[in-house]
Amino acid sequence: MDVYGLLGNPVGHSLSPPMHEAAYDELGLDARYVTFEPEAIGPAVEGARALGVRGLNVTIPFKEDVLAHVEPDALAERIGAVNTVDFSTSTPTGHNTDGEGARRAFERHSVTLDGQSAVVVGAGGAARAIAFALADEGTAVEIANRTVTRAESLAADVPGASAHGLDSLPELVSTADVLVNATSVGMEDDVSPVPADALHGDLAVMDAVYRPLETRLLREAGARGATTIDGAWMLLFQGVAAFELWTGRNAPVERMNAVLRRRL
Ligand code: NAP
Repeated sequence: MDVYGLLGNPVGHSLSPPMHEAAYDELGLDARYVTFEPEAIGPAVEGARALGVRGLNVTIPFKEDVLAHVEPDALAERIGAVNTVDFSTSTPTGHNTDGEGARRAFERHSVTLDGQSAVVVGAGGAARAIAFALADEGTAVEIANRTVTRAESLAADVPGASAHGLDSLPELVSTADVLVNATSVGMEDDVSPVPADALHGDLAVMDAVYRPLETRLLREAGARGATTIDGAWMLLFQGVAAFELWTGRNAPVERMNAVLRRRL
């Protein structure tokens, strides 16, 4: 039996085990996906390798620290974080599928990215992965964050990007084609990081927050006729990308999506 898993803390409410195990079931793979809450990332990666674990996802608080214990690919190195470890080579390799998850979420909703302008709200881990993915697709990226220095440091890494405070959002959003919330705003309370008046019907709006599925931002964007993409799409496709990297098989996307949405 092949073993895959998730390293993080906490991981008790993770949706990755049912999503990946649905894929194993659909394709008849003899595999399990289990969660671990290690105290330290280095020994956990080494131990997993020694035990023959095939692949790991990595989440908070280990996404950055794991870089020192794997051979990161070019994208993970640029983002500065790894969410997927592959043990198929003698040295474990590190990858970041969060940005690919966002890219495929847009693709699924027929949103064109090349030549468009996007506003990314946030400058944390999710924002970094999404900003690189958008820039790599030919999108001009504006980054707005509560802490402007963090936006500046991300914008310095992303080709063509510029940095702003949240007070610039009304102006930025009014002329944008794409808007992404990559902050945790909207998760705990029914609040939006973007003033509703700035939203318009020509926008495609993605929220990285997936609990709740319909955030206030998406509700207000939908009411103005915008295309809305909830955070479960990004979660789905980052898992799809990890599955395909580990197994070399096409993931059963619809089955994984159905299981994910049933759990949410
Ligand atoms: P992170 O690295 O901790 O970054 C948090 C971001 O949120 C920072 O930009 C922070 O701004 C901002 N923020 C927090 N509270 C705020 C507030 N009250 N007002 C304005 N900005 C605020 O977290 P992360 O890993 O990037 O995750 C961000 C969100 O994305 C979370 O909700 C997470 O669940 C979600 N996520 C979803 C997926 C998916 O697959 N759908 C994947 C990864 C993450 P400062 O810099 O000013 O602190």
